[in-house]
Amino acid sequence: MGIHMQILIAILLGIKRNWHIFFGLIAGIIVGILLPASHYPLVHKILDIIGQSFINIIQMVVIPLVISAIVIGISSIGDNKQLAKFGKKMIFYYLIITCAAVTIGAVLALVMKPGMGAQSFINPDVAHQMQGYVSSAIAEQQSNMTGMFLGLIPKNPFHSLATGDMVPIIIFVLIFSIALAKIGEINRPVVSFFESIFAATMKVTDWIMYLAAPGVFALTAASVSNFGVSMFEGVWKYLLVLALGFLIQFFFIYPLMLKIFSKVPVGKLYTAITEAIMVAFGTASSSATLPLTITCCEKRGISSKICSFVLPLGATLNMDGTALMQTVAVIFLAQTYGIELSWIIILQIAILAMVASSTCAGIPGAGLITIALVLNGIGLTPEQLVIGFSFLFALERLVDMMRTTVNVASDAVVAAIIADNENEINYELLNNDSYKDIV
Ligand code: ASP
Repeated sequence: MGIHMQILIAILLGIKRNWHIFFGLIAGIIVGILLPASHYPLVHKILDIIGQSFINIIQMVVIPLVISAIVIGISSIGDNKQLAKFGKKMIFYYLIITCAAVTIGAVLALVMKPGMGAQSFINPDVAHQMQGYVSSAIAEQQSNMTGMFLGLIPKNPFHSLATGDMVPIIIFVLIFSIALAKIGEINRPVVSFFESIFAATMKVTDWIMYLAAPGVFALTAASVSNFGVSMFEGVWKYLLVLALGFLIQFFFIYPLMLKIFSKVPVGKLYTAITEAIMVAFGTASSSATLPLTITCCEKRGISSKICSFVLPLGATLNMDGTALMQTVAVIFLAQTYGIELSWIIILQIAILAMVASSTCAGIPGAGLITIALVLNGIGLTPEQLVIGFSFLFALERLVDMMRTTVNVASDAVVAAIIADNENEINYELLNNDSYKDIV
């Protein structure tokens, strides 16, 4: 049987195990189409409130989970050499996966030319409405960029905790955990404390997952009800390029990486993470999906040592889906405006997209904001391209749902490869489809 057939069957098996989440997803799409927000604003508002409540409730566990996971992960890895080895491997695999994503994005966008002819579809009214939104996003991005590098350094970890700033939190916890690992036995009370926090947050995640079906339903319905047929005019090719790119990552690159670098059976891994993939699609947030990504991977045999180190870092730093989207979007904008792109500029776009995607938070919409970094890097500003940008905003939620699914799947793929390389995977659990249900 071909690998792609195996993947489809694997996902179906995952869906069967938690068919209610899939049902929520499909019902959400149908309800969203039947009840457009423009005609049923009250229904849209209610769906939005339910969906947001679901995102809020999962986000409630993200910070305690990330902190406790990293503390346990690093203190269980123990010696510096092993930690450096895991860290290097993680960066190596994340780089390969993101390089593949930007290459695929660039090749597809150059071959399929999604921006050609798109400008004739620009609706001046829609562009005008979008202008205010785009301007505020740009202002936010500019202030973000100024403070971006300084903002990574955790001046006051409690402030970062209060504002939910994941990168400084992770940097602080990494330093703190390495120190804990270094001080030896005296670290026991603190490590045990975080072990209890981790176990409790995982329990809460299990409970929250009972809400996954209604949550995913409401989020999907609310998003789909905002789509209008007219917004696809002129940009269907852009959407097609992205969808193709994401599918290539999902069905070719990840299986290829799993095959080359590990002996993890592709189908088994995809079955294991189906719930996380569905929730990533519904929430469009890698951070919000993180508790479930950890649950799926741990319950299916990837050691908590690897999960707790690789997955939280991946959810904030590894955004191959976002990098692919940013590459395609910038080339699309250039084509729309008839800007010639030399090979050097295309290479620059790809490299900048790798950087910009990894600086973006695992929350909805972040990737479209950090795209300004790529545009600035090649001497353009979003203000110059505001009308073309309005296309991207119109499609944003749908594209975000797709790219987040890819972002989350790649975190799990890298965790599985490292776990295999380090003998940190329990194949009996991974191969046993009926072993322990996630929800
Ligand atoms: N929503 C994406 C994520 O959470 C980030 C992005 O906007 O690209 O992974």
